[in-house]
Amino acid sequence: MLDGIRDAVRKFLGGNTSYEVAVEEFIKDIQKALISSDVQVKLVFSLTNKIKERLKKETPPSNLERREWFIKIVYDELSALFGGDKEPEVNPKSIPWVIMLVGVQGTGKTTTAGKLAYFYKKRGYKVALVGADVYRPAALEQLQQIGKQINVPVYGEPGSQDAVGIAKRGVEKFLSERYELVIVDTAGRHGYGEEVKLLEEMKDIYEKIKPNEVILVIDASLGQKAYDLAKRFHEASNVGSIIITKMDGTAKGGGALSAVAATGAPIKFIGVGEKIDELEVFNPRRFVARILG
Ligand code: GDP
Repeated sequence: MLDGIRDAVRKFLGGNTSYEVAVEEFIKDIQKALISSDVQVKLVFSLTNKIKERLKKETPPSNLERREWFIKIVYDELSALFGGDKEPEVNPKSIPWVIMLVGVQGTGKTTTAGKLAYFYKKRGYKVALVGADVYRPAALEQLQQIGKQINVPVYGEPGSQDAVGIAKRGVEKFLSERYELVIVDTAGRHGYGEEVKLLEEMKDIYEKIKPNEVILVIDASLGQKAYDLAKRFHEASNVGSIIITKMDGTAKGGGALSAVAATGAPIKFIGVGEKIDELEVFNPRRFVARILG
């Protein structure tokens, strides 16, 4: 998708057709690029309609070349889809605050749990982690190692298969010990073809621990499947925000747009590496600049 958009921008700025024709072509190109990467058709048309309306209503400021002004409108409207000018509010709205992380295996959920714990600890919160991924053998150990590294306690029950019970007991324990922020890592997979079970478990954990915030963790390379995946997790557990991992790789995060559309939840952070401090607060403008190249 993103290469398609970049190409369209380049063609538009460098082309020598008339402005009106170039605008029409650009809008078609951008629609094609977005739709071919599975961004919902409805969302694509609502975006391009907004762009067209602004073109009709607004007059280009004299100090800007017309084509550049048009790209700025495209940039504005794309940014608006991701939250506009402001960075998201990431501090907990109240204390204590329980976060439940959901997402498929391999996206970087456990790593992100650690990164979040570190991020909030640095901001002065008393943070704890709960390891409720009982299906990936090394997940708890991985979390415990991270916990040790950043000096944050980790609750887990080695050998247990009772993810819901672990989540519940872990959260209760830390809340009774007056921890301010409790982050629960959950499973990403149950076994081949057992996705329904995974989602049922998410729902069950969600209902038992009643988290203040569910964060969906998705991988930047998740293009085609992002919409459906986000929607299913949202139905199971009411996703409140999104983290995109592996933004340091070659994937540009195109699926993020679909995940936002599917859940109505804002992107809060991006993961930009494997290390504990490689987590950034999401910046819509920077993200769109990356998309537009
Ligand atoms: P989980 O199965 O979702 O819990 O995934 P893990 O946390 O075990 O992460 C899977 C792999 O992705 C590990 O090798 C992580 O180091 C890596 N990873 C996680 N987040 C990022 C990121 O933001 N950037 C990069 N490059 N790698 C990441």
